Amino acid sequence: MAQPQAPASAKEQALTAPQKALRKLNLVRSIDLALHLPLRYEDETRITRLRDARDGHTVQIEAQVTHSEVTFRPRRQLLVTVDDGSDTCLLRFFNFYPSQQKTLSEGARIRVRGELRGGFAGWHMLHPAFRLAGGELPQALTPIYPTVAGLPQPYLRRVVLAGLARADLSETLPDFLPLPHAEPKEREQDPFTSQIADPPRYSLLEALSFLHQPTPDVSLAALEDRSHPAWQRLKAEELLAQQLSQFQSRRERDALRAPVLQAQGAGGLPDQLLAALPFGLTAAQQRVCREIARNLAQPIPMHRLLQGDVGSGKTVVAALAAAICIEAGHQCALMVPTEILAEQHFRKLIGWLEPLLAPRGTRIAWLTGSQKKKERTTMLALIESGEAGLVVGTHAVIQDSVVFKNLALAIIDEQHRFGVQQRLALREKMRAPGHEPHLLMMTATPIPRTLAMSYYADLDVSTIDELPPGRTPIVTKLVSNERRDEVVARIRTQLAQGRQVYWVCPLIEESETLDLTNATETHAALSSALPGQMVGLLHSRMPPAEKKAVMSLFVSGHMQVLVSTTVIEVGVDVPNASLMVIEHAERFGLSQLHQLRGRVGRGAAASACILLFGTPEGGRLGDVAKARLKAMVETQDGFEIARRDLDIRGPGEFLGARQSGAALLRFADLSTDAALLDWAKALAPRMLDEHPELAQRHLDRWLGGRAEYLKA
Ligand code: ADP
Ligand code: MG
Repeated sequence: MAQPQAPASAKEQALTAPQKALRKLNLVRSIDLALHLPLRYEDETRITRLRDARDGHTVQIEAQVTHSEVTFRPRRQLLVTVDDGSDTCLLRFFNFYPSQQKTLSEGARIRVRGELRGGFAGWHMLHPAFRLAGGELPQALTPIYPTVAGLPQPYLRRVVLAGLARADLSETLPDFLPLPHAEPKEREQDPFTSQIADPPRYSLLEALSFLHQPTPDVSLAALEDRSHPAWQRLKAEELLAQQLSQFQSRRERDALRAPVLQAQGAGGLPDQLLAALPFGLTAAQQRVCREIARNLAQPIPMHRLLQGDVGSGKTVVAALAAAICIEAGHQCALMVPTEILAEQHFRKLIGWLEPLLAPRGTRIAWLTGSQKKKERTTMLALIESGEAGLVVGTHAVIQDSVVFKNLALAIIDEQHRFGVQQRLALREKMRAPGHEPHLLMMTATPIPRTLAMSYYADLDVSTIDELPPGRTPIVTKLVSNERRDEVVARIRTQLAQGRQVYWVCPLIEESETLDLTNATETHAALSSALPGQMVGLLHSRMPPAEKKAVMSLFVSGHMQVLVSTTVIEVGVDVPNASLMVIEHAERFGLSQLHQLRGRVGRGAAASACILLFGTPEGGRLGDVAKARLKAMVETQDGFEIARRDLDIRGPGEFLGARQSGAALLRFADLSTDAALLDWAKALAPRMLDEHPELAQRHLDRWLGGRAEYLKA
């Protein structure tokens, strides 16, 4: 998603599968390969004797197969007993090929690597890696690289080492601001291999050579939690590149001109809007509105991120910013990720703004992908003539046919939902000769305010850190799938009180059909369990018109229960809904669960969220799933959820994190590397001023063609 898709040339079609996979990972230049660092390491340098092994450790043993059989109880499995002369160990495989079975036949000497478990019945390992014994033991730890399908580790290892040998690794860091020492971490210290006392400083070449081929005497813990000084060096380099790019784009932007949107005094459009609202703004909303208004009144394009938890009231802030813009005689575009959301915003903004705009002869236009041609033509005309002061829409807003008369403010809601390319396209689109519009991005996926401010040197950050008053906390409960009946009873109680209920079914990635079946079945079951109530169904493959119809029945309160796949995830607002049931909650990501839960608790009614969980064939929930559900029950604070999400997923997930566009950092972690971030932030502007050629070399090395993406 984050990579540019060049048209496939003849040359490209001739690429082998691993070469294509390398492209996919953006590993093109030697330096890219050199900077592709291991996720973790495996220690294959030594053989452990079973007698000396410890429970729970990952070890490599060399042993003889003494027994091998396939059993069928409780399910088909291959059981292999091995003996290394000091003790025996049972190897268990649920999936295996005949060829593997052959390697594991009685009498064979094998080398086995896996996590050792000790129980009453002796040592055992589940699905260990194995091969025939013999051959030299490697001298260095074996790096395991992030990879994709079609790119096996041994191949990747070879090309990475070749890249490392070829790459230009000359230093780019000027020496006037030395790197801070790593904070010592609390952990078990191995007195022989401690790297903590006085960490050596590594050159880039040393750091990379070490991380690709660490010697076996190093503490695996320091390597894996990335506190090792070689890692520190790499993280510092990466953060510096990010800060250089941010400062550079900030400087470029400061040289651009944007329309000055001065809020009129009392009685102007924003004031009228405030007076028309059924509520007063919270202190946090007032503060962020002031921050935005101050930017808009400047001739320099605003570039501001508005973050606030689900339900914190970002929409009204957007409406007020729009009001300032329209008042000043310019156009404002509001872009949202889904049609349903576009519809909702449209309805709400019409409700708020239209009565105020009509007397001024200003209209609201909207653009979506599924619009009828005729309607679209009308809308395009309104936009081009400038008659439409506000344009609401999905990414249909960035299509070529859309021509604005005098766009001055672009607002992107749920910006993390848009691909990086779409965000870039929007900015490109909005650019008019001689001026650039102000940009306001809104998101409910927060990173702590202080971090956000130092990370985004090119972005001003406003945070709504307070929910509107009168919200009752949402009670979150974990309920096993077997107790669905109780959940249905609970739904009845809510409906009897005139409330509405969401029931969300998971997306089953492997099969859209299965996905749909699941939602359809739940819909049928609930319909028959709740006679006399309207139970609706919403899923991603319904035609947009039908989606819209279902949604409006639910919004207007005619429909009591809405069964849906995750299409309702972003931004839907129905204050009368008081119960959210999430089926197979164990399959959802943490931030997704948090977003879904945020659909209730929007009115004064006491609200609840029920996380229904099922276990695979009566087995146990995985640790990660358990940690996520636990976090959901324990906290409702979006910042805390974001922190725990990071914790649970760990730094190994960098590819995923990169794709969400959240941070675009591969190695550094904002929650642990604040000191390095401060260093990079202090160094970047000085480097741009005093050593522009070094700065450029550093940027090229780290970002290559990706600099643009960091700015999106
Ligand atoms: P989000 O930040 O998730 O986009 P919304 O803008 O959808 O949140 O607001 C959630 C709900 O809270 C809406 O119904 C909105 O009208 C309401 N709301 C917003 N601000 C206030 C306020 N200051 N007082 C009371 N209700 C508010
Ligand atoms: Mg919203």
